[in-house]
Amino acid sequence: MDLSPGISYFLGQLSRAFLDPGSHASLLSLAGAFLIAFALLTLRRLRKGRRVRVKALLRALFPRHIVSSKSSLADLSYFYFNVFLFGLVFGWALLSYEMVSHSVAQALTAAFGPRQPTALPPYIYRTAITILLFLAYELGYWLNHYLSHRVPFLWEFHKVHHSATVLTPLTNFRVHPVYMCIFLNILALFIGTANGFGDYIFGQATHQYVLSENNIILVFFIYLYVHLQHTQLWISFTGWLGHLFMSPAHHQIHHSRNPAHFNKNLGSCLALWDWMFGTLYVPAAAPEKLEFGVEPDRPYAHTMRGELLAPFARAALLLKPLIDRRPQAVALPAQEQKQP
Ligand SMILES: [Zn+2]
Ligand SMILES: [Zn+2]
Repeated sequence: MDLSPGISYFLGQLSRAFLDPGSHASLLSLAGAFLIAFALLTLRRLRKGRRVRVKALLRALFPRHIVSSKSSLADLSYFYFNVFLFGLVFGWALLSYEMVSHSVAQALTAAFGPRQPTALPPYIYRTAITILLFLAYELGYWLNHYLSHRVPFLWEFHKVHHSATVLTPLTNFRVHPVYMCIFLNILALFIGTANGFGDYIFGQATHQYVLSENNIILVFFIYLYVHLQHTQLWISFTGWLGHLFMSPAHHQIHHSRNPAHFNKNLGSCLALWDWMFGTLYVPAAAPEKLEFGVEPDRPYAHTMRGELLAPFARAALLLKPLIDRRPQAVALPAQEQKQP
């Protein structure tokens, strides 16, 4: 049996995930997050006049109860699924960003007439399109996340991410394929529309600045703090900074089981859209005591059955009253309907 296509696919995905410097899980960005966390902990201990020992710092950064928890193991399974299998299973279902962009540029040309190519220097219009596409990414992320929390059918799939009881950078990958599929289609719609608009305004195809095909501003934030959003390390932006940027503490609040924190901080790198749409919760400077997860006693938590298959069954139960002729209440326990 010839295994070479399978092996080369596996190795290709592995290198795309870890070695591309612009990838969401690049080793370089993970090392950057580790160094930032290490430096910050060192600084905090020095300020308190405590001794700095590398072993103690490593223990604080990788507590055994978190690394070996069932929740972290489920994160690892989802990481494997999303890096190696998602593209094979769901790739065909995606809206094309190029198609959306082309259609928008064509529609604008038909409505307002063609435009001459811009006389601006390339670095101006490329910078403008880079910022525009980053804002479109953040807005698409916010909207998808908002719908995932507010629409009960979608919440069943997003709940998988919130069922993590400890946060590590791998939790970022703990997302159900249905959530991922809807997310990527919404992104294609938003980024494609923004790109088509940019192409029309500048009168020519404009290309954003990228690193490994990812928007360079997004990559900057991945290196700066996106990995730290899924850690137990309290780094909070307060004041005006907390209204613009989604610090690690902002996202930890998003995972909190405290009802005061439900449906808050839905952005990715920016807090801007949350601020504009009234879903912002600016964390305090001092650490807040948080518990993570949903329905802690849920059967099959952190298993394939509970996190991958059960969401389909629960979502189908929600659709049943719509399909049945006779109107009837959804037969879910009250606890299931709460939406953190
Ligand atoms: Zn969420
Ligand atoms: Zn999260």
